[in-house]
Amino acid sequence: MYPKSILNVIEAFKYLPGIGDKTAERMALYLLNLDKVQTDFMADAIKNLKDNTKRCKVCGNFTSDDICFVCNDPTREKNILCVVEDPKTIIAIEKLGVYHGMYHVLNGLIKTLDGLDPTDIRLDKLIERINNSDFKEIIIAVKPCLEGEMTSLYINNVLKDLNISITRLASGIPMGADMEYVDAITLEKAFDNRKKIS
Ligand SMILES: [Zn+2]
Repeated sequence: MYPKSILNVIEAFKYLPGIGDKTAERMALYLLNLDKVQTDFMADAIKNLKDNTKRCKVCGNFTSDDICFVCNDPTREKNILCVVEDPKTIIAIEKLGVYHGMYHVLNGLIKTLDGLDPTDIRLDKLIERINNSDFKEIIIAVKPCLEGEMTSLYINNVLKDLNISITRLASGIPMGADMEYVDAITLEKAFDNRKKIS
């Protein structure tokens, strides 16, 4: 039987996805071999994660300030907006270095049109932002799956009377693939060959 100090860490690791009893035990015991500086760093990093990670007030990206690095950058193209389903996709696209417009993060995708509440996934914020800005193009960069299609159609329907070009990332991205796992070349191609849907 381990002392409580070790048992607590084992319990904590088991909160993580895919971590069972044995792995949690192995990781907890491994931590005992690290320097105190390292374990303090880990503990502080985890403690600060929730306290110091906010969502950008403009686009919903992760940030430690009120406004994220993209929205704060005066050199970005302000009239092009890329709609993504989570902040991870912003990082994947930024790594390519081919896109210089703005972003809007949805909190997921539309799961069903029955009882759809646009506030659930920040669609209301998206529409409000588009109505109050001067966007010329909206790029919908959500993963190709049924939910992605529904979300894309919904956005297209709501915006169809505005004079804005709405594009969708081109095929090549495997059906159902998570955007952050799509390789850079495929993602860059999908960007370059994006298709107008309205
Ligand atoms: Zn932002």
